[in-house]
Amino acid sequence: MSERVYNFGAGPAVLPEQVLEEAREHLLTFPGAGMSVLEISHRSSAFSEIIQRATSNIRALAGLSDDYRVLFMQGGATQQFAMVPINLLPVGGSADYTLTGTWAKKAAQEAERFGSVRIAATTADEKFTRIPAADTLEFSPDAAYVHLTSNNTIVGTQWPEWPHTGDVPLVVDASSDIFSRPLVVGSNGHGLGLLYAGAQKNLGPAGVTLVIIHDALVERAGVVGRTIPTTFQYSTYVDSDSLYNTPPVFAIYLVALVTDWLLSSGGLEAIGAQNARKADTLYDAIDRTSFYRGAAHRDSRSRMNVTFRLANDALERRFIAEASDASLAGLKGHRSVGGVRASIYNALPEPAVNALVEFMAEFERVNG
Ligand SMILES: *Cc1c(COP(=O)(O)O)cnc(C)c1O
Repeated sequence: MSERVYNFGAGPAVLPEQVLEEAREHLLTFPGAGMSVLEISHRSSAFSEIIQRATSNIRALAGLSDDYRVLFMQGGATQQFAMVPINLLPVGGSADYTLTGTWAKKAAQEAERFGSVRIAATTADEKFTRIPAADTLEFSPDAAYVHLTSNNTIVGTQWPEWPHTGDVPLVVDASSDIFSRPLVVGSNGHGLGLLYAGAQKNLGPAGVTLVIIHDALVERAGVVGRTIPTTFQYSTYVDSDSLYNTPPVFAIYLVALVTDWLLSSGGLEAIGAQNARKADTLYDAIDRTSFYRGAAHRDSRSRMNVTFRLANDALERRFIAEASDASLAGLKGHRSVGGVRASIYNALPEPAVNALVEFMAEFERVNG
């Protein structure tokens, strides 16, 4: 296969074509460096400019005030499941977790190793097919933080809005919807304490994790009452500008290009509008007929991972196989839930969604 297909995979996921083209240029020789971007030192002036650009792009996109730090780390979102409680949950303390899916559960399980975890809300009895209603949320004023997963990649649900947590800092796993719509941060927003996102869904390739942390939480590691290895302290990354040890140079370079692309395409307002159009088009196609059934409740539907079912497993397998033959790749649902999942991240172009909708109509005509 030599042509690029439409990639609906959940992650690592589609990247903007224009970013890949630019990276291809720099793969041989990075301007001014005389060597590949894969070969430059993380202490070089070329890389210094790259990481500063990625940082300032992220600050601009998120509208960060001066009291937030932008960090580039490794170990994926999964490592943050541990780093968050290690740094922020005092020995003997308690944190509030909202359980809205597999990833949220994993985050809570990891926190249980370091303190007590209070479940502030869960939709486990509905197989996580919805986000808890705002009026059922009960946060403890004594919690060290409140953790939530903004978009549930596997089931296909997304918090329509992040809840207000008062004086308790909010910690958000935004791996699968980071920068997909305007982000409300800061004192007049949701009291965001920390946000983390593995890059491989909406931000770049696998290998780098974005962390946005409020200054007030950086120093908490010093008073939680446990010994923390240097590379597991947020302050290490703050003090060294994410250069304590060799960072994932190429992945950060791609994050710089992806965030350049986001800003030059009109920022989060523009991409948010485009994502809403893409999701509406696809959900309309699902709702138009009983041949397809949306897997998530309407009020909780994700604009990033659109999940749906057909009448039975055999039909779903045929749908996914024939879609793949039609250059619509990566539509198989997560192995834990089955069904069909179309991940329609920022970089997936609108024609890809239109092609999928056309394929769905034709598949129904033949098999309905
Ligand atoms: C993919 C994903 C993860 C796991 O990310 P890794 O980078 O593989 O550790 C965690 N949370 C959410 C919401 C995800 O979508």
